[in-house]
Amino acid sequence: MMNNENNLIDGKAIAETIKNELILDTERIFKGKNIVPKLSVVILGEDPASLFYVRMIERTCKKVGFQFEKHALALDTSEEDLLALIEKLNKDEKMHGIIVQTPLPPHVNQKNIQRALTPEKDVDCFNPVNMGNLALGVPVYLPCTPNAVYEILKRENIEVEGKYVTIVGRSSIVGKPLALILLLKQPNANATVTVCHSRTGNLADFTRKADIIVAAAGKAGIITGSMVEDNTVVIDVGTNEVEGKLVGDVNFEEVSKIASRITPVPGGVGPVTNMMLMKNTLQAAKNIAGNL
Ligand code: NAP
Repeated sequence: MMNNENNLIDGKAIAETIKNELILDTERIFKGKNIVPKLSVVILGEDPASLFYVRMIERTCKKVGFQFEKHALALDTSEEDLLALIEKLNKDEKMHGIIVQTPLPPHVNQKNIQRALTPEKDVDCFNPVNMGNLALGVPVYLPCTPNAVYEILKRENIEVEGKYVTIVGRSSIVGKPLALILLLKQPNANATVTVCHSRTGNLADFTRKADIIVAAAGKAGIITGSMVEDNTVVIDVGTNEVEGKLVGDVNFEEVSKIASRITPVPGGVGPVTNMMLMKNTLQAAKNIAGNL
């Protein structure tokens, strides 16, 4: 058993490095072209968690020098009006990325909204065309949170090829697309992946076999020390509020003594996810500028 203080993966430091790279890349790509990558966020209502997330996107845009535009609409905005705004943003040549913040109120069909976003500005990668391209192994954008996990593994030189990865969680925004990314026939992928969920029989049977565990269930502390073997890499995507504190899906106290590498919560996957959104926005700006 390891009790290694150096096993911590510093997501904030990785995000800072990516931020500096993005600033340099933006300068290089758009030098003399009078183009600044621009991201638009559409939000309905005033859900505090959503407002917090939108403020964080605005701050991240500022850090990398991108333009940010917020469309704050009333909670009772009709689906028709929302679709009309999306259509306007789709056509705006100066707008590169569009996010429609979820959760949406029940009178709006989320699938219709995801389909309405033009795939080339869908920087969250929720449009079925972008998800389909990923499933076919030819992704244009990678969804931000799974891409953050991929980026962390890559930047920390954690071998993925041929390794056994157990993902806990099968959502369409984290678990499932992460499995597709790690299955890609490309460097830093080529893993053997098992995806677990709430109906998986005995979760520990799969986590104990893993070289890499990714926890994305949204259940505080469900990955305990007894579920992890020595020399396992543990990436904790979960963000749960427990007694006013942000904690992950991994029992950090127990698992950090066993894992060869581990991400903390906060300060692990979260900051890198924000930068992946900026990376997709830069990619969108580059694609759109190339088509003008
Ligand atoms: P979600 O849509 O609620 O999906 C949770 C998944 O975990 C489901 O597939 C569910 O199974 C599975 N699950 C729940 N309890 C389980 C258990 N006891 N054993 C095994 N599987 C279980 O959540 P999400 O949107 O994917 O998010 C997952 C977590 O990541 C949340 O804590 C969220 O806040 C966090 N998150 C973090 C970031 C970041 O940047 N750090 C970004 C996005 C999300 P079923 O499918 O059977 O219900």
